[in-house]
Amino acid sequence: MDCVFCEIINGNIPSTRVYEDEFVIAINDLNPQAPVHMLIIPKKHIECANDISAEDTELIGRVFLAAGKIAEKLNLKDGYRIINNCGKNAGQTVMHLHFHMLAGTNLGEKLV
Ligand code: 5GP
Ligand code: ZN
Repeated sequence: MDCVFCEIINGNIPSTRVYEDEFVIAINDLNPQAPVHMLIIPKKHIECANDISAEDTELIGRVFLAAGKIAEKLNLKDGYRIINNCGKNAGQTVMHLHFHMLAGTNLGEKLV
């Protein structure tokens, strides 16, 4: 399978893991859009949010539990934004479900 995030998860592409547990990893985005810009990536290959099934319910909860742990570890006490792009109109470029976690500045009130 030709998936860059699967390659990162299985270690074929080296990466610095900001966080890792049984369900997810978090890495710094290659092209950061904020002072802190990480990707929280479920280890299971799911193409996009539309492909999440009932059996993934716990997995998705684990993404947000990981976000809380990362926020604590990085001392993001002023908050953060989590974004998921699903499909063409959202500009999804990597077809492996992931959640952008942005922080480190006032992100403003737009989008969203
Ligand atoms: P999307 O537009 O699909 O929501 O976001 C994909 C994100 O993955 C982009 O922000 C892009 O910079 C990031 N990205 C793409 N390839 C790599 C990579 O090999 N390593 C890392 N760390 N980030 C990547
Ligand atoms: Zn994948």
